[in-house]
Amino acid sequence: KFLTVGIDGGAATGKSSTSRRVAAIYKLLHVDTGSHYRALAAGLIAAGVSPESQEAIESYTQKLALDTVIESGSAHIVVDGVRPADEDLRSDAVNANVSKFAAVPAVREALRDYQRSQRELAHQKAFDGLIVEGRDIGSVIFPDADLLFFLEADEATRAKRRAAEGQQDAVAERDKMDATRKTAPLTCPQNAERIDTGSNSLEEVVALIGSRIDA
Ligand code: C5P
Repeated sequence: KFLTVGIDGGAATGKSSTSRRVAAIYKLLHVDTGSHYRALAAGLIAAGVSPESQEAIESYTQKLALDTVIESGSAHIVVDGVRPADEDLRSDAVNANVSKFAAVPAVREALRDYQRSQRELAHQKAFDGLIVEGRDIGSVIFPDADLLFFLEADEATRAKRRAAEGQQDAVAERDKMDATRKTAPLTCPQNAERIDTGSNSLEEVVALIGSRIDA
């Protein structure tokens, strides 16, 4: 059966490492929707658009052409023919502004159908399904997913995770903004299983999700 798995959760809760592992084991296409918001934020910052200028954001998103390349089982967004480099997606400027851009409805609308289209792509490319990580996968993008999980971790664990990645990123601030925005706020979907990634190791979390897939 073709499987759709959604992984929601705050910043640095281990969504990416978990999703990548599970994707590799079960031949699922890995889709990181945070990288989509980061790509648009990077483009908007490069174009000199501020998160407050609604009109400039709308005119930017209206002209966007989005595409995908798949590499080692992960989908990567291509914006107007260019695949943004990982370091551009994780720059300090993007870390500081991505949540502000992600709160703008035009930005979310610009990505919604694109993100949903990843399911057809996974199917076309003969994956056994897809695993999609983000903040609104269960609430907006794939409410019909076969399995939904919500990852959580205490502040100290998350700070350690980001520091280990050598990142300057105020994750608590980003979470607060993501949880309080009007459009698609970060919240645990009703039918999602909560997993604490502070008290469980990566291996344990992967095993738990695997047991639900196998069930
Ligand atoms: O997952 P990551 O930390 O890379 O996400 C960066 C930002 O993108 C989040 O802080 C959030 O503002 C936004 N985002 C979102 N909805 C998603 C995924 C990410 O609003 N599904």
